[in-house]
Amino acid sequence: MDSKPLPSTMRAMLLDAPQAPLRLAEVPVPQPGPGQVLIKVHACGVCHTDLHIVDGELTKPKLPLILGHQIVGTVVSAGVHFRPGQRVGVPWLGWVDGDCPACRRGQENLCPRAKFTGYDLDGGFAEYTVADERFCFPLPDLYEDAEAAPLLCAGLIGYRTYRMAGEQVERLGIYGFGAAAHLIAQVARYEGKRIFAFTRPGDAAAQEFARRHGADWAGDSTVAPPEPLDAALIFAPVGPLVVEALKRVRPGGVVVCGGIHMSDIPSFPYALLWEERVVRSVANLTRRDGEEFFAIAPRVPVRAEVQVFPLEAANEALNRLRSGQLTGAAVLNLMGTPD
Ligand SMILES: [Zn+2]
Ligand SMILES: [Zn+2]
Repeated sequence: MDSKPLPSTMRAMLLDAPQAPLRLAEVPVPQPGPGQVLIKVHACGVCHTDLHIVDGELTKPKLPLILGHQIVGTVVSAGVHFRPGQRVGVPWLGWVDGDCPACRRGQENLCPRAKFTGYDLDGGFAEYTVADERFCFPLPDLYEDAEAAPLLCAGLIGYRTYRMAGEQVERLGIYGFGAAAHLIAQVARYEGKRIFAFTRPGDAAAQEFARRHGADWAGDSTVAPPEPLDAALIFAPVGPLVVEALKRVRPGGVVVCGGIHMSDIPSFPYALLWEERVVRSVANLTRRDGEEFFAIAPRVPVRAEVQVFPLEAANEALNRLRSGQLTGAAVLNLMGTPD
């Protein structure tokens, strides 16, 4: 910890309203409330969910809002669980009531009163943030700040999506080979699965990226893989992919939709679902997903490929994500910028 006094204001990228670019602003440093820690942000990942919020597809953000739910930083003020200077990660799940039926069933990801980081609560596209320390994770030392950031959503929700495919999976399809896919493919391979990666038709760069991160086969989303799949994960927000994936999974196979938003799914013949095929979604994450993922990730070891942008280039990072021009995960670096 340096002994410089805490500044009273900080730089942040603000969302004033949907469908407008983020605006660089000087705002007060937030004050931690009960149970919260103040965190100096070192890096924050940029996720498809951020894009859905900016584009107005997720309709109830707090406004103005500081986006960002893959936050890596150091604790400034001591909490009960963390000491000053300790590095923590802050994920999408920011708060739950803990006593509703969903929470009591162990499905805190479905808590109707849940608050989400960078949506209901200000997030990490800023120099400081506050977070409920019960929802912060200690991070494995293996990872530098920028590399750790995408693990907090692409990694965690990707991991939950992968686990929902079930145990009896040897041939795993992945539609949309971006941030989540390239992390989860490494875990799947470590567990002995074979990976079949599907990308936008003709996207040779994404197919090469998939092969580099462990795909046994990579091809266009419109074509059949060389053998039937036991399960398919969909990370691209494209409804017609649900139908494509159903065509490719064997009887009893599972199609898991990992995104928070997706375009409409076209109607399809019942024969595609018949024979006990399953379509399901994944919503948010639980703290247990995080504990499991951060236990397995350094063992694999999962390595994240990141493209780093300065805080003020958040709009450019979002635009590149929207147009599919990113390989791997976009991360804002908060440490390489002047005070
Ligand atoms: Zn996310
Ligand atoms: Zn609850």
